[in-house]
Amino acid sequence: MHELVIIGSGPAALTAAIYAARAQLNPIVIASTDRIGGDIATTTEVENFPGFPDGVDGPDLTGRMLEQAEKFGAEIVYDDVTSVTLDGPVKKVELAYSEPLEARAVIVATGSAYRKLTIPGEERLTGRGVSWCATCDGFFFKEKALAVIGGGDSAMEEAIFLTKFATKVYVIHRSRTLRASKVMQERAFANPKIEFIWNSQITSINGEDTVTSATLIDSIAGDAETTELTVDGVFIAIGNDPRTHLVHGQLDLTAEGTIAVSGRSSKTNLPGVFAAGDVIDPDYRQAITAAASGTVAALDAERYLARTIS
Ligand code: NDP
Repeated sequence: MHELVIIGSGPAALTAAIYAARAQLNPIVIASTDRIGGDIATTTEVENFPGFPDGVDGPDLTGRMLEQAEKFGAEIVYDDVTSVTLDGPVKKVELAYSEPLEARAVIVATGSAYRKLTIPGEERLTGRGVSWCATCDGFFFKEKALAVIGGGDSAMEEAIFLTKFATKVYVIHRSRTLRASKVMQERAFANPKIEFIWNSQITSINGEDTVTSATLIDSIAGDAETTELTVDGVFIAIGNDPRTHLVHGQLDLTAEGTIAVSGRSSKTNLPGVFAAGDVIDPDYRQAITAAASGTVAALDAERYLARTIS
């Protein structure tokens, strides 16, 4: 029986691991096999994490957090959680490739998943021109024309990064107002390879074996104005949804779909179960706020265990 299992490997999970390990709780961190480090690990350069005035690569930041957690005694298990049983004093965590784990407390820090457009061609051409990750797939689009969908920081970041490879990057945004921070907007506006297509919705991604074009409609005129944009790839950056599938039916969720926690704490509706990071946060979703949330969860778990063990 373990004291604490932490599900996730982003900034929330790893910060919780650092605190819990220093509190000698010997935490087990389950890092999913396809998304080690969470979203931040696929980010090119993180410029707003305090302590790194020259910026830090997402994977580098993740690597440092992992190293720090392990240094204090956290055990990282690279496996996928298939199900959890969270009620009762002993929590059970089933894994895809190893024996189930039992623990007195669990921190759920499963982050969020890329949002989909749910339009024709999106699923069929995923991996064949449709992508959610410029750092993962951008390299395959040398000298190509690309579309990035979205108007937030992620879309700006993806577009700017893709100009390293592509000859042209169209940013397609459904309104005339960007949600991205001013600094990211200005960088995108200043990039000669980026062209904004305003008030436009993508309605289908086209191509036989690979992407060859995208169909756009004018957000205001609707179907009356349809254009076909010739592109070799479509990068979707329209936000994320909290990844809560493991806890459906066990933990209370908010109207926004995040795990409900009590006040400023990480306490869920079940004793001994805590939640942290993007999975509880519909608003801020920064690496630093996730890290802070991981701290809260580790402290809550530590206090819970101190109360219940003796
Ligand atoms: P956001 O929620 O900020 O932006 C999503 C964008 O996608 C919006 O412009 C939205 O349009 C658009 N959108 C949503 N759904 C659709 C749809 N179905 N069709 C077309 N467009 C759609 O998400 P991000 O991932 O960009 O950012 C999430 C958080 O992460 C933010 O807090 C951001 O600041 C942060 N972040 C920070 C970075 C940094 O600091 N370097 C880098 C990346 C992310 P509309 O505006 O019309 O709603």
